[in-house]
Amino acid sequence: MSCGGPHDTDCGEVLDHLYEFLDNEMAEGDCAKLRQHFDECSPCLEKYGLEQAIKALIKRSCGCDDTPSDLRSKVLARIDNIRAGQRVGEPLLAAEGAGHGDGGLLAAGPVAAAPVD
Ligand SMILES: [Zn+2]
Repeated sequence: MSCGGPHDTDCGEVLDHLYEFLDNEMAEGDCAKLRQHFDECSPCLEKYGLEQAIKALIKRSCGCDDTPSDLRSKVLARIDNIRAGQRVGEPLLAAEGAGHGDGGLLAAGPVAAAPVD
């Protein structure tokens, strides 16, 4: 991807540092080199504009109230894990529901191991 014209800074180098430039993580001297390159090279300028737009979009969508579905499923999985942990940790509760099958085997362990006094 190149406009074919000669540049002080190589197109590949510009694209390698594009995210650093977008995040303002570059030294001022390097920023100037990239800005100059964008002035001379329209394919890189186009790429830069696109990344900048995506970055703005991500920032905006993170700021809104709508919870990403990915995060939602992670939270739900976490809740399931906690529930499962509680069931194992409380054999007496599980024993009460042993008739349902699920958890019956787990409950059998501690109950059978109880000292017969
Ligand atoms: Zn370029």
